[in-house]
Amino acid sequence: MGYKVIVDAQKCIGDGECVDVCPVEVYALRDGKAVVVNMEECLGCESCVEVCDQDAIVVEEE
Ligand code: SF4
Repeated sequence: MGYKVIVDAQKCIGDGECVDVCPVEVYALRDGKAVVVNMEECLGCESCVEVCDQDAIVVEEE
C-alpha cells in the first residue's frame, strides 16, 4: 500500500511550502512549480495538503 500525490500545476504558485514541510522530500521546485519527485516515499501524513494555501495538493491512499 502506498500513496498517490497529485499537484495541480494550475493552482500551484511555487511558494515551496510543501517542499519545506514534507519530512521525506517528496517534492522539488522546478520552473516555479512544485513537482513530485519521490512519491514512493510518501507517508500519507497530509502535512503538505494542510500547508498548501492554494489547495493544490491531493494525497490519496492506493
Ligand atoms: S503526505 Fe506527508 S509524506 Fe506525503 S508528500 Fe505530503 S508531506 Fe510528504
